[in-house]
Amino acid sequence: MSTLASGIGMTSQRTRARMVERLKEQGINDARVLAAMNAIPRHVFVEEALQSRAYEDTPLPIGQGQTISSPYTVARSCELACQGRPLDKVLEIGGGCGYQAAVLSLLARQVLSLERIAALVRHARESLSACRINNVLMKIADGSHGYPRAAPYDAIVVAAAMPFIPDELKAQIRPGGRLIAPVGSGEDQRLVMVEVREEGVVEQELEVVKFVPLLKGVS
Ligand code: SAH
Repeated sequence: MSTLASGIGMTSQRTRARMVERLKEQGINDARVLAAMNAIPRHVFVEEALQSRAYEDTPLPIGQGQTISSPYTVARSCELACQGRPLDKVLEIGGGCGYQAAVLSLLARQVLSLERIAALVRHARESLSACRINNVLMKIADGSHGYPRAAPYDAIVVAAAMPFIPDELKAQIRPGGRLIAPVGSGEDQRLVMVEVREEGVVEQELEVVKFVPLLKGVS
C-alpha cells in the first residue's frame, strides 16, 4: 500500500479490527463483508482532520455538504446486496468519497459508481488509487435513472434517499439480484430491498435510516 494508505499504520489496523468486532455485535454476519470492512482503510477516504475518527460508528462530513455513511450502514447495505455470494457487476448510486465503492470492490468483479459532484469524484478516484483498487469505475453523473447502458447488475446500492424506487431502476437488476435503497425524505426514511425473483419483483421495507437526499443534475 502507498504511504497515504498506510498513514496511520498498525494503530488503524487494530482500530479497524475493533470496528469489525462492533459490526458483528450489531448483527453483521456475512464473512465476506466483514473481511472487506477489515481490509479497506476507511481513514484514507476521509479528510485528514477527521482521520482519527474514521473508525467510529458515525457518519462524517466529506465536503460539499455530503457525508460518508457510518460503518454499520455501509456494512448493512453491502450484506443485503451480496446475499453471501460473489457478485459480478454492481452499480452504486451516490459514490461520495468512494469508501462504499472500495468495500464493494472486494465483493464484486466490477463496480460502477455514479456521483453527481465532480469534486467528490476527483477525491474518491485519488483515494481508490491510493488503495490500489482498479475494479471501480467512478463517473460524474446524475444516477437518478441508474445506468442502463451497462445493465443488468447483480446488485444496485443507492446511498442517497429517493422518494420512491423508479421502475427504470428495477429494470436494471439481473434476475436473482437485489437493489438496496433508502426511500423517503428527511427523518422519514426506510431502507428498502427490491429482489428480482422468478415469481416477480418483491419489495420489502426494512429499518429506519437517515441518508442525504438524492438530487438532480451534476455539479
Ligand atoms: N457511498 C458514499 C456515501 C455518500 S453520501 C460513501 O461511501 O462516501 C451520498 C452521495 O450521493 C453524496 O455524495 C451525493 O452527492 C450523492 N448523490 C446525491 N444525488 C445523486 C444523484 N442523483 N446521482 C449521483 N449521486 C448523487
